[in-house]
Parts: sequence; C-alpha cells; structure tokens
Amino acid sequence: MSAPEALPLPAANPFAHVWETPFRLPPFAAIRPEHIGPAFEAALAKHREEIAAIVADPAEPDFANTIEALERAGRGLSRVGGVFYNLTGADTNEALQALERELSPVTSRHWSAIMMDDGLFARVDAVFAKRDALGLDAEQARLLERTHRGFVRSGARLAPEDKTRLAAIDERLAALATQFGQNVLKDESSYALIIEDEAGLAGLPDFLKAAMARAAADRGHPGKHAVTLSRSIIEPFLTFSTQAALREEAFSAWSRRGETGGDSDNRAIVAEMVRLRAEKAKLLGYATFAHFKLDDTMAKTPENVRGLLELVWAPAKARAGREAADLAALAQGEGESGPIRPSDWRHYAEKVRQQTYALDEAVLKPYFQLDRVRQAAFDVAGKLFGLSFAERPDLVGYHPDVTIYEVTETASGRHIGLFIGDYFARASKRSGAWMSAFRGQRRLGGEVRPIIVNVCNFAKPADGEPALLSIDDARTLFHEFGHALHGLLSDVTYGSLAGTSVARDFVELPSQLYEHWFLTDEVLGRYCLHAQTGEPIPGELIAKIRKAQTFNQGFATVEYTSSALVDLAFHSLEEAGEIDPLAFEAAELARIGMPAEITMRHRTPHFTHVFSGGYSAGYYSYLWSEVMDADAFDAFTEAGDVFSAELAGRLKRYIYSAGDTRDPAEAYALFRGRLPTPDALLEKRGLKG
Ligand SMILES: [Zn+2]
Repeated sequence: MSAPEALPLPAANPFAHVWETPFRLPPFAAIRPEHIGPAFEAALAKHREEIAAIVADPAEPDFANTIEALERAGRGLSRVGGVFYNLTGADTNEALQALERELSPVTSRHWSAIMMDDGLFARVDAVFAKRDALGLDAEQARLLERTHRGFVRSGARLAPEDKTRLAAIDERLAALATQFGQNVLKDESSYALIIEDEAGLAGLPDFLKAAMARAAADRGHPGKHAVTLSRSIIEPFLTFSTQAALREEAFSAWSRRGETGGDSDNRAIVAEMVRLRAEKAKLLGYATFAHFKLDDTMAKTPENVRGLLELVWAPAKARAGREAADLAALAQGEGESGPIRPSDWRHYAEKVRQQTYALDEAVLKPYFQLDRVRQAAFDVAGKLFGLSFAERPDLVGYHPDVTIYEVTETASGRHIGLFIGDYFARASKRSGAWMSAFRGQRRLGGEVRPIIVNVCNFAKPADGEPALLSIDDARTLFHEFGHALHGLLSDVTYGSLAGTSVARDFVELPSQLYEHWFLTDEVLGRYCLHAQTGEPIPGELIAKIRKAQTFNQGFATVEYTSSALVDLAFHSLEEAGEIDPLAFEAAELARIGMPAEITMRHRTPHFTHVFSGGYSAGYYSYLWSEVMDADAFDAFTEAGDVFSAELAGRLKRYIYSAGDTRDPAEAYALFRGRLPTPDALLEKRGLKG
C-alpha cells in the first residue's frame, strides 16, 4: 500500500512521493508554484475517496471505523496545504496569489460537501449517540464530542435547501477573505514615502535610517530612504521623526490601507462579509454571528465578552485622557498649538517616556540583538521545559533568510520537532507576526513530530550589522515563540486536537504568558549585551524598563479595545442589510466615546484578523487570554521562583503539551488550582483603582 500522503502525480512533482528528506522536511528547493495546483487537485480527489470509503463501510459505525478513520483521512491534503498556506503568508508571489484565489472557493466547496454529507453525519451521529457505552478514554471522548460539534456547526443538520445556501455562503466568504488579505498586502507593499533630502530624516536614529535605506534600495531607490508600512519602520518613524507633516502623511497612508479606492479597496468586501455572516448565523439557528462564533469559545456569549471589554474600557479611557494631557503639555512647551493628533501620539509619548523614565529607545535598542533575544527564548524553554535547540545549517528553508533548528529533549536526546525562524520583513510577506505549522504533531498511525515556524517582520539590518530589536519586537519574538512551544511540545494522539487547535480565546495564553519571561532578570541581565561594546545592560536601565511597563497603557488599551468593540459590533447585527462599513465604524466609535487623539489599532478596511484571519467576533481573545496569562505568571511570582520546576511541570502537562484534549477552563484550573480573576490583568496594565 502506498503511503497515505503520497499522491498519484507525475514523478517530477514532489507531492507524488514520501519525502526522503531529514525529518521529512518539505523539499522547498524542488517545490514550484506549478506543482501545487495539480497536487491540490489530486489531494482533494484522494480525500473524497477516503471519505466515500468511510461512508460505504458496511460495518456498524463505531469509533475506529468512523471517528478515527476521519482522523486518518486527508493526509495528502494536509501535506500540500501545510506548504501552500505557509508560503502564501510568508513568501508569496503572483503565481501563488492566483492559486490562492482559485483554490479558496474550491477547498470551501470540498469541506462543505464533507461536513454536510448525510451518510457521513449519520455515522458520526450514531457513534455520538452511544458515546457513554463505548469505553472511550478521555482524549477519545473529547475527539468524538469535538468532531460531532464540528459537523453540527457546519450545517450537517440543516434541510437540503439550507445546506445549499450555507455552502454557497461559505464559498463566497472564503473567496472574499482571500481577496481582502491580498488587497491589504497590495496596499502595504506598493506604498513607500521616499525621503529625498537630509531634512526629511531629522530626528531619526541610525538603526532606522539604515532600515529605511535598505527599504528604499529594495524598491529601486538606492541612496535614498523609504518610509514603508511595515510596522518595524512606520512605528519608529512616527516615534522619532521631528517632521510633523511627514508623520501625518505616513500615518494617513498607514491608517487608510484597504480604503484607497481602486481595485484593492476593501469596503465593499467588508459590507458583503458582514451581511453573509449574519445570514449564516441565522441559518444555523443563532441570533447573530457573534453568538454563533462565541458559542464555541471559553467566553461562550457576546455578553461575557462585552463584560470584559467594558471592564477595561472606562479606566483605559480615563488613563488615556491623562496621558493625552501630558503629551499636549509637552507639545505646547515646544511651541506647538492645538490638540495632539493621532499621528503625533507616538512622537510625544516617546519624549514623555524619555523625560519621565529617562528611557531612550535609541539607547536601549543596541542591547536587544535579535540573535541573543532568540537564544534567550530558547534557553528559557530549556529551563522551563527541558528543551535544547541546535541550528541545522544543512537543512534548506523556503527563503535564504530562514534558519532551521532541531529541537530535542535535553535529558534524553529525543527528537521533539523542527523550529523554523523567519524574522525579517520583505515585500513578499504579509504584515504582522505569527506562528504556523508545516506539520502538526500526532501519534495515531505512528508518532509524527511537528515542524513549526515563527514569522515576524523585523527590519533587516545592513550587511554585516547585527539585527537590533525594539522592546516591543523582543516581546513579539517571545510571544510567537510561546505559540511555537505550544506546537512543539504537543503530546496527543489525535492530530485534530494537537498543539494550537484550541479555543480561540485560549490560544493566546501560551504565547502571552511566555512574554513574561522576557522581562525577568535571567533574560535581561544575561542576554541583553550591547551590540558594540558587549557590555550587559546596566541594572539601572533594567529598573527603568520595568518601571515604564505601564507607561502608555491607556493608549495601548484604548487602541486595542476599540478594535475589539468594533469587531463585536459588526458581528452583533441581526440583519446587516446594506451597511457602509466606515459609517458603521464611526458610529460605534462615537457610541463608545473614542478619544480623538487615538485611532483603532486596526481600522476596518485592513482588519485582517477579522476579515481574512480566524478572529471574526474574536479580537477580544487577546484580552481574554491576558486575564489568564497575568494570573498564571502571578503563580510563579508568588512561588518566588520564575523557573519553579513544579509549576513549569504543571504548565507543560496541562497547557503547553495538552492541545485541545480538555475543556480549556478545566485545563487552566488544573494548572492554577482555581479559575483566573481579572485583578492581575488590571494591575499589569496600570488600570486599577
Ligand atoms: Zn498570538
């Protein structure tokens, strides 16, 4: 019998074979865009055959011949998808983008057909009905419950005409989401503000000038400097540039991504998606799309989400008001008149930070070298979870900037997985930072260890220079590495419960929790050495960094929470009708009393989390998880040891390695001994009392 992931394709197509590479790493150098279309077609056909065989099985439906059989099906498809979806995010091109547009409705139709197959659901339902009599272990019972729920939520119980309509809606939503993401990438990669003269560089630190020179050269303007919309350039530019008019010009382009008119404008896409999502929720028996999405999360209801967002909104606004007054006073002292504009906020906030805490981003930055911060993230995982990381220069990634590491268990030498680091911004990469898997972990059918990637958008240094990070960048590296550990440490039987396949408002716990170790003495004192002098970061600077932790948290909480509230409002419509997304956004911001000095972190026309990622009615998830991560790290603080072996052991067992094998609230309580309270969150953000 041929291996389940090999596909009937011409021998020249790498997806025709089992990969005889080390760790069965995808043979990136051999995979071309033209291999992917045929491979998808073959993989979808093979998956359909596998499903048909399950449905046609004459034996009584049972756990093995139905639920486990579904788990075993689709190996070829997940191998092709693992390569394709990672490349479209991290290193795309026109051929891949065309394929993405072509394939998104095709794969949507494929999954609709499976999830609404009457014969298949009858078997799943029959197994579910006798679940208590099957002698299943806890993970099997969870898989059965999750599988059954997945079918019901996909429309398996609908009448035939409603199924047809739902499939059409899902197909259209998939196509729109793809287009939305491509439009944002287009607006981001096509924009560059070219600075022609020295005056335009006033106030900019050397690291930023170097990154801007490189960005200009990449865009065909050697010898000049470019402001691009990559966060690693635009944010420091807004912070340091003393040219208010240039700041305003760049900020305006940044905040208008997706609404520039022409064929990359996302407004009509948003209106249609909101309308279709409301209709979908109705078909499935929910009042609104938010009710539908939240029913399958820890939060459970829109009321619970609103409760948390409103708990922080009023104190955050009050705090932001005090921050704005400080900024305005400073600006007036410099002879500026009028209120602070959104394009001014970062600039004056940095000045207040320098005055209040004597912390200068340009002085700090040489202490945060990418290589050393990454090593710190590795070594913390060594201390907490007993892992070792070894660079494997012999393994070839999908881009020259990519580095591959083998992860092993230090004590036994056992192979844990591969970790791929892809840290630098480039035009072929979408913005933001994320973790993803080329292959997930599972034990069913033989142990398979994961291949996990972290993708970031840090500014690439000039040749021969060390890459330097801001504190936010360094925290992002730890964040994404926390997700990576969730994938790498996964230790479950069934692949669909593995790693990060957990509730959306639980998935940020492992990542946000990991950020806390970045600010420990262990990391700051030992890993943050000055790039030129090699001197460790002075103790007084560390003290200042810690003291400044709640600085600007009014701003950060307002820009985040307003985005989450707008997301929730769009998806709380019972009938969407013909909405104008920008008017709707403006009305919601007016309703919640949005401060004029601050804009949403992600305005609607480029809110990719919500309109092309998986965070629709879900942007609140970061805050929901933060309630847990703040509370969870308190356990280590209370124990007086941030590397407490006992706590780390429970953390690994119940959270980092457990995937979705347990209800998330139960998993948290097993780690902490109780459910979380929001006290630690309010404390951490400086919003208490
Ligand atoms: Zn995250």
